[in-house]
Amino acid sequence: MGKYKHILVAVDLTDEGKQVVARASDIAQPQGSTLSLVHAIEPLSYAYGGDIPMDLTSIQEEIEQQAKLKLAALAATLDIPKERQHIVYGRPEVEIHKLSKKQEVDLVVIGSHGRHGFALLLGSTANAVLHGASCDIRAFRLKSD
Ligand code: AMP
Repeated sequence: MGKYKHILVAVDLTDEGKQVVARASDIAQPQGSTLSLVHAIEPLSYAYGGDIPMDLTSIQEEIEQQAKLKLAALAATLDIPKERQHIVYGRPEVEIHKLSKKQEVDLVVIGSHGRHGFALLLGSTANAVLHGASCDIRAFRLKSD
């Protein structure tokens, strides 16, 4: 394994995020790597495609607020400062690729579920992030499997 200067940890802000962050920290600590966190918020309009005549603004704002708080709590466990707690908007794989280029990240750490059957056919965030990545990716099998 090479020496990584800047590691980006992708978190979905469920309890599983803690496992992913802990594993990333295991890699970062002995090498003195910089750690950043990213959480992608998918706009609600993606889910509803604009078909429902509803103003989703306040719900979206609430989601963003909650995400910021949860990301900050996760970051606090590793002393990751505000400027390295990234909330991005859009599809996780697209935004993670964009951010990792912009922040000159050399490793992305992500969780992975051992999916099978229909869930495998539907794919996963880890798979999507792996495709088209411009840096190394490490996917950790999440323990709930
Ligand atoms: P999933 O394949 O969606 O179950 O997620 C597996 C892993 O992908 C999670 O453990 C995170 O590392 C990452 N991930 C999923 N959703 C997001 C998100 N919205 N933002 C950032 N990373 C995510």
